[in-house]
Amino acid sequence: MEPLDSIVIGAGQAGLSASYHLRRLGIEHVVLDADDAPGGAWQHRWDALTMLDVHNVAELPGDTPPPHTAERANRVVPATFAAYERTHDLPVIRPVRVDRVDDDDGLLAVHAGERRWRTRTLVNATGTWSHPFLPHYPGMETFLGEQLHTVDYPGPEHFAGKRVLVVGGGASAVQFLGALAPLTDVLWVTRRQPVWRTEEFNPEAGAAAVALVEKRVAQGLAPQSVVSVTGLMLREQEQEAARMGVYDRRLPMFERIEPDGVRWADGRFERVDAILWATGFRPAISHLAPLHLRSAAGGIQLDRAGRGTTAVADPRIQLVGYGPSASTIGANRAGRRAALGVQAALAAESVAAS
Ligand code: FAD
Repeated sequence: MEPLDSIVIGAGQAGLSASYHLRRLGIEHVVLDADDAPGGAWQHRWDALTMLDVHNVAELPGDTPPPHTAERANRVVPATFAAYERTHDLPVIRPVRVDRVDDDDGLLAVHAGERRWRTRTLVNATGTWSHPFLPHYPGMETFLGEQLHTVDYPGPEHFAGKRVLVVGGGASAVQFLGALAPLTDVLWVTRRQPVWRTEEFNPEAGAAAVALVEKRVAQGLAPQSVVSVTGLMLREQEQEAARMGVYDRRLPMFERIEPDGVRWADGRFERVDAILWATGFRPAISHLAPLHLRSAAGGIQLDRAGRGTTAVADPRIQLVGYGPSASTIGANRAGRRAALGVQAALAAESVAAS
């Protein structure tokens, strides 16, 4: 089979934006997506998450943003993405879970089980949702209550009448505490002091947060999530929990987990029925391991001087929704830069071949 000019892996916001721009540039490609249906990670988010909870889901290129209403985000965003794929006739193939990408005599071979594609360039847009991060604490396996990660969050009603420990210092933990506090007895534990933002989020604050993460990935360090460096803010939905003092009763990290609760190094113990690990995600990039893109510093170094999406170790590869573009706005914009990166890599290849 003839190789394609490009393959996009992942059809979330980042992948769809890249596909839209590749199509505009006339670059022949397909988008391989692991999910059964359109919507990227949004289709898997918990039912209680409404469009009012998500901080301005950015519109896709050439589209208008989804409505800011009390409707479920896991319905509205997938419906928006599905319509977008149809309107722009984007070449999405699903479900295809890519398990490995390797070098094939100057081309890239993309493997998904028995299926295989060859391509000159690649845009990786696989997000983080399929790679939840769960830290390990001694005694974790002895806990007799329930342990869930953000990916499994069933909504606040599930925890009614239970004593719940929320672990994590990010936006998800803040949202869970806000929803749980009026219904249950909640405790909050974080490893680091949370950083609160007192001012409304504005473009300058957003740009500063992105610049911080950009600097990290330009050095080849593992990226920090953009959302984590913008700081935390309490919204209308969290005011009741705030009045109850939930956010002021934060505890440092415990030392170990016991069958019916958690214990600190000083011997203090708290009995809990459930532990909700709001401990974040890591980039879902294990399928890229055969390409050896990771730097000694642990992350994939991206070219900051250029488009900010090109892998320094292999300019045929673009990463979107990774590092500085791992936010709704960032993913949207990175799609265009990645498509230009693909165009430049194809041009370099044809110059080398002539
Ligand atoms: P996703 O939407 O995750 O899409 C990735 C796609 O890749 C999926 O369709 C998946 O099926 C596919 N895929 C994954 N692995 C493979 C594979 N091996 N082969 C084939 N396909 C694969 N950002 C904000 O700006 N504001 C927020 O409030 C906010 N809240 C967030 C809350 C949570 C809990 C999380 C996890 C993220 C949040 N973000 C937020 C980040 C934001 O949602 C994403 O950065 C943005 O939507 C871009 O998504 P994406 O396209 O990179 O990934």
